[in-house]
Amino acid sequence: MKRLSSRADSIRPSPTLSLNAQLTARRTAGEEVLNLSVGEPDFPMPDRAREYAAKAIADGRNRYTDVAGIPELRERIRRKLAEDNALEYTPDDVVVANGAKHALFNAFLALCEDGDEVVVPAPYWVTYPEQVRVTGARPVIVPTAAKLTAEQLAAAVTPRTKAVVLNSPGNPTGATYSRAELAALAEVVLRHDLFVVEDLIYEYFHYGDGGVPSIASLGPELQARTVVVNGVSKSCAMTGWRVGYTAAPPEIARLIRRLQGQATSNVSVVAQYAALGAMDDVPWDAIRSYRYRRDLAHRRLTAIDGVRCPLPTGAFYLFPDVSALLAGRTADEFCSALLTETGVGLVPGTGFGAPDHVRLSYAVDIPVLDEALDRLAAFAAA
Ligand code: PMP
Repeated sequence: MKRLSSRADSIRPSPTLSLNAQLTARRTAGEEVLNLSVGEPDFPMPDRAREYAAKAIADGRNRYTDVAGIPELRERIRRKLAEDNALEYTPDDVVVANGAKHALFNAFLALCEDGDEVVVPAPYWVTYPEQVRVTGARPVIVPTAAKLTAEQLAAAVTPRTKAVVLNSPGNPTGATYSRAELAALAEVVLRHDLFVVEDLIYEYFHYGDGGVPSIASLGPELQARTVVVNGVSKSCAMTGWRVGYTAAPPEIARLIRRLQGQATSNVSVVAQYAALGAMDDVPWDAIRSYRYRRDLAHRRLTAIDGVRCPLPTGAFYLFPDVSALLAGRTADEFCSALLTETGVGLVPGTGFGAPDHVRLSYAVDIPVLDEALDRLAAFAAA
């Protein structure tokens, strides 16, 4: 047989897969698992999302929609971007996609091609480098202390650099860029004529003062080169519904729409109505309650000898440096031993470009969090 696609074969599988297989095997064997590896909120989705979805089904909404999404949802997203992010778009600038992951993929495909470079600050969400690779571009990984600085960006730029990825608040670090930090980055972006792919999916999980600034809000010349990515997966606990979106300048939005029109067409119409309901019924109390868990998990984690972890300002992860606990093991071996010996599931930092770290999600019940941290402390001490 002929060779399969070397491009497809160059994509690394999601690093959480083998961990999930281990977790499932443990559960099937009847063993207890304290799973702190989850990347999704544990609160229920908004009632209005259920109602809108049910109504869409009852109303017989069973046809294709516009590739970019139903007009009501794109208008609702336009309003959200104006209200939350001080960004003026038209509904035509918005393309609703199958989750933020698909929205990101659309963005990279619209911007990048063979020979391009895309700056990806590490630690990064595992998917960015792989999606960049699919386009034929090369991810240029820049190690950071959670946030990319203007100097680091300037040093990474070459004549081939097409774009830079910003994720705020970030997965896995929970770090949020301030307006001043974005302004410094913006200066480099403009000087070198770069695009920005800005992933704001954790926007509402923000524990600092004020909102999460978008680099696109720093001026029309920034908005003209930024693709903003967001969705309802995290904010409305609707990861399974698969609704995300891009907001982009008209020329980029046009290409994204064209790509999506030949790949997936519209997102499930029922899911689109659910997202429309969700956006008017954001579970703010549940979201805000995560601040307490962050503080609890951070206090308990940093009390463990050998664990270093800044207090994150957003998302729902802690990403401690555990190099002092590795004792010659890789983070993968550490997480594997932790799971086998204590039943606690953490994600090794390897896939995030930070092999001395592990990722802990605090989007779990407080008793589970407490018990897992007891066990982690005992494991670290042993
Ligand atoms: N961006 C980041 C930083 C994420 O962590 C995730 C989900 N883990 C996504 C995008 C994808 O979100 P969605 O489920 O909407 O595709």
